This record gives sequence, C-alpha cells and structure tokens, in this order.
Amino acid sequence: MSKTYEGRCFCGSVEFVVSGEPEAMGYCHCESCRSWSAGPVNAFTLWKPEAVKVTRGAGEIVEFHKTDNSHRKWCRKCGGHLFTDHPQWGLIDVYAAVIPDFTHKPGVHVHYQETRLRMKDGLPKMKDLPKEMGGSGQVLAE
Ligand SMILES: [Zn+2]
Ligand SMILES: [Zn+2]
Repeated sequence: MSKTYEGRCFCGSVEFVVSGEPEAMGYCHCESCRSWSAGPVNAFTLWKPEAVKVTRGAGEIVEFHKTDNSHRKWCRKCGGHLFTDHPQWGLIDVYAAVIPDFTHKPGVHVHYQETRLRMKDGLPKMKDLPKEMGGSGQVLAE
C-alpha cells in the first residue's frame, strides 16, 4: 500500500488523492505560473497521471491551455487552482499548496531567469528547465 494524501480546491467541491511519491518537486518562477497564480512563485510536485485520482466534483474542473504542454485546471465554483497537466512529459503538477498534508521537499528551482523573488536556499537554480525536460540545463547563480 502506498501512502496517500488528500487534496481539495478552495471551496471543497473538488477532492482528490495522490498516492506514492512524486517524480520531482521544486519551485517554478516562470511568468506564466506567476501570472496565473497571482503569486511570486509556484511550488510544484510532479506526479505520474495514475498517481492522481479525483474523488469528488470532477465535473467542476475546468481548464485552460496557454500552451500544448500546460493544461491548467481549477474549480469553476471557487476558482481555486488544482493541477497543471503536462502531457508532453506525462506528468501532472499538483500544486503543493493544495495537498497540505504532503511535505514539500523541493529539489530544484526552474525558470529562474524569470524570477521576481530570489530564494537563497542553496538548491540548484535552472535558467529554464533541465535538459531532459527540453531546457538548456544551464544553472544560474542564486
Ligand atoms: Zn472549489
Ligand atoms: Zn511555471
């Protein structure tokens, strides 16, 4: 039995569980995440699609595709953000903020060239993305 963690939207109409461990965790500083979340940085956890199960309110989930690789999803009742599907990577970003019982253990910062909030935590700061995710693989100073 793998460990499961419950998550929900801002109003609670949508509930879901994630199970096991994510493939990666960190912070995204990109303009899209900042603009969409209205926050300075997005704490992400990336899961295989089969690890994420919506248990309530699936019909309330709506989505917007600014790019083919980021399908951003939220609850239409409250506007609370839930996930970003990344179909080209076969991963789902479940925002750390919506799975409060899961301990976010960040390993990397991505899109740091776009940062508006420098974070001096000693973790690697990728200019954009790691090479295996289609980026330059370049690391910047904090
Ligand atoms: Zn909601
Ligand atoms: Zn981002």
